[in-house]
Amino acid sequence: MNTSELGPVWKRKTGGMTNTTTLLIPSETAVKDKNKNKNKSKKKREKAERSYGLVSFQELPEYMKDNEFILNYYRAEWPLKETLFSIFRWHNETLNVWTHLIGFILFLGLTFANLMHVPQLADFITIFTRHFPTSTEANFSHNSKEFLLRPTKLIDLKQELPFPMDITPPEVAATQWPFFIFLGGSMFCLLSSSICHLFSCHSHHLNLLLLQMDYVGIAVMIITSFFPPIFYIFQCDPHWQFIYLGGITVMGICTIITLLSPGLSTGKFRSFRALLFVSMGLFGLVPAIHALVVNWGEPQRNVTLAYESAMAVSYLVGAMFYVGRIPERWKPGWFDLAGHSHQIFHVFVIMGALAHYGAALVFLEYRGRIGCDRNI
Ligand SMILES: [Zn+2]
Repeated sequence: MNTSELGPVWKRKTGGMTNTTTLLIPSETAVKDKNKNKNKSKKKREKAERSYGLVSFQELPEYMKDNEFILNYYRAEWPLKETLFSIFRWHNETLNVWTHLIGFILFLGLTFANLMHVPQLADFITIFTRHFPTSTEANFSHNSKEFLLRPTKLIDLKQELPFPMDITPPEVAATQWPFFIFLGGSMFCLLSSSICHLFSCHSHHLNLLLLQMDYVGIAVMIITSFFPPIFYIFQCDPHWQFIYLGGITVMGICTIITLLSPGLSTGKFRSFRALLFVSMGLFGLVPAIHALVVNWGEPQRNVTLAYESAMAVSYLVGAMFYVGRIPERWKPGWFDLAGHSHQIFHVFVIMGALAHYGAALVFLEYRGRIGCDRNI
């Protein structure tokens, strides 16, 4: 609300009240004046509220002009309070905020389910592994959280297994932090994206800051996604574990430093940013091929490969929508509120992260069972 506009009205009202003549004999004119002032103030308030209406692309300040194919329903330079409550209003960022907010809540739920030993919830994604039969899956598919969350069970398992197998000490098999690092990185990315979409219309300064936070969030999610597969695949070969995890961390930090340069937040560099993220993702091909060659005969190969391929396809298809600004470029103005590229990109990011979660569960479970006796 523009207080400078309301200021004079408030002063006039106060002036009227302190006038002794008016106080002693409330004449008809004074009452009329008071009502007039009241109406004026009400009108100004309404006008100010109306001024937080949605605007078109042309009316936007230059720094907010990001996607010329989205023509209407923009919020521009709203106060923080109005911006916060716009989470419950329809504008062209509503679904961008909610898609990643729901994704964040979903990952928060998965984190708690894993921390608080709720097998059915934490394991829901691996329901799909039932469709990828492997020779030993029947032995491995049930009750995975018993091993995830109660490492001492490994001792019992040794007696229960239908075939002889040496199991490494529980403290090696039960390492869970890489799994939670990934969950934490995903939650950070989804939440910062959601906050960015909600508040970046407030001011130029906040817009730049939140966009940078959003890009850092994506980089953090990519880096942390590498931790479960690389850690568990190469758990018994710390040399490669260090090379790959060190490599992706250094690469991620370089990407973050590059993206923190304010000039790179503009629409002009959309493809460049996507290229940086995709190359970080492609770095994963090196350890993936390495792991495949070393563990070609392992029964879990098809399951993890299917999950990780689903993740790669989700991220790549999402990035294509993001860069191509499809479908809004075909019908500008048609997808302003729902169905534009960024919303589709968000949905693919969540699907990719869920596929990777499924793979991480399989890696963790398998390594938990066999320890360092064999590679995955
Ligand atoms: Zn986004």
